[in-house]
Amino acid sequence: MNVLVINSGSSSIKYQLINMETETSLCAGLVERIGFAGGKLTHKAHPDTDAEKKIVIDQDFADHVAGMKRVVELITDPADGVIKDKSEIYAVGHRVLLGGEKITKSLKIDEWAKEVIREYIPLGPLHNPANLAGIEVAEELFPHAPSVGVFDTEFHQTMPPKAYLYPLPYEMYEELQIRRYGFHGTSHRYVSKSAAKFLGKAKEDTTVVVCHLGNGCSMSAVKNGQCVDTTMGLTPLEGLMMGTRCGDIDPAIVPFVMERKGCTPAEMDTIMNKQSGLLGICGLNDMRDIHAAREKGDAKAQLAFEMMAYRIKKYIGSYIAILGKVDAIVFTAGIGENDDFMRAEVCKDMEHMGITIDTEKNKVRSGEPRDISAGGSVKVLVVPTNEELEIAQATVEVLKG
Ligand code: ADP
Repeated sequence: MNVLVINSGSSSIKYQLINMETETSLCAGLVERIGFAGGKLTHKAHPDTDAEKKIVIDQDFADHVAGMKRVVELITDPADGVIKDKSEIYAVGHRVLLGGEKITKSLKIDEWAKEVIREYIPLGPLHNPANLAGIEVAEELFPHAPSVGVFDTEFHQTMPPKAYLYPLPYEMYEELQIRRYGFHGTSHRYVSKSAAKFLGKAKEDTTVVVCHLGNGCSMSAVKNGQCVDTTMGLTPLEGLMMGTRCGDIDPAIVPFVMERKGCTPAEMDTIMNKQSGLLGICGLNDMRDIHAAREKGDAKAQLAFEMMAYRIKKYIGSYIAILGKVDAIVFTAGIGENDDFMRAEVCKDMEHMGITIDTEKNKVRSGEPRDISAGGSVKVLVVPTNEELEIAQATVEVLKG
């Protein structure tokens, strides 16, 4: 049984075909610059195995349907496609950004679900329309395969009102639906479940702090398997310092800068989302480049690195305060999984909270979940995330009822 996972962006489609018996990826790829000149399709059959075969096609795609049609040709190619026919796709799982308060769990896409995704476009202006486009493409190209929506916000729907409400006039919540929704929920759910499994515990009995540190960064406090707080808010801008996003700042900075610099709301949004974070501080947003610059003595790169770690540490402290006893602090995503410097910096001087990492274990590189804590410490785990597999598993669960 194969599930096609689609993450559709405004001008891109990321896809992966997963064999659910073996939970392995048959192929994965990305269609880029859809609707623009300079379109590109990067396709990998049997990714991350010895049989990996990469194909790069430079071709313009008028729209998402055209891009996905080309993907189908590759997947079903008689010579080296990974399946014979589209009918071998059992279902399509879609990553959808925002389902708001109306969608609290993954569901089979029907007219109502599409209406809800449409309704939340004002809160997810870039993603929700693109996710809808992906759903429509799947309906057109795979009419035999049901579509399931897996929402970034659903895992966080268990937060209590004291965590998800902002102390603004209450009407802003009622009229404008302004509240904390949280994002990266698929990753937080997968990683908190995997951490429980690694610890040999039921997820309902496992309490963890998850640090998803990629280009976008977020943390969640997961008590007995349920999210009780998360750092991202109404939009993915809140919380941690990220590659190009500022995360938490004094909200009064916004009108101040707009007045002083004569910025429009859109320009201010661009500054905070695309020109801030690591990039804003040191001119680099890829952590590997930041380490290379630090090694050469770049003081701004060092500062950016320390600022990011400092803010993660502050949230670990506050999440332990609200959770009480935690079973583990869990690191995941590009930086969380690969960057031992960042993990060491975050966990430095936290013995007073019962957290100590083992320097040697922290340096080990592996694609498997692992424990990097020193004896007697609260567990500190590195757990690789796999949002596509989580979406595929949720898709099957929904369809099997
Ligand atoms: P996205 O949010 O785009 O999915 P990823 O989870 O892929 O992001 O994470 C990207 C980040 O991970 C980048 O900052 C990148 O530099 C960082 N990263 C990847 N590999 C390493 C590594 N070996 N050491 C340090 N940082 C790494």
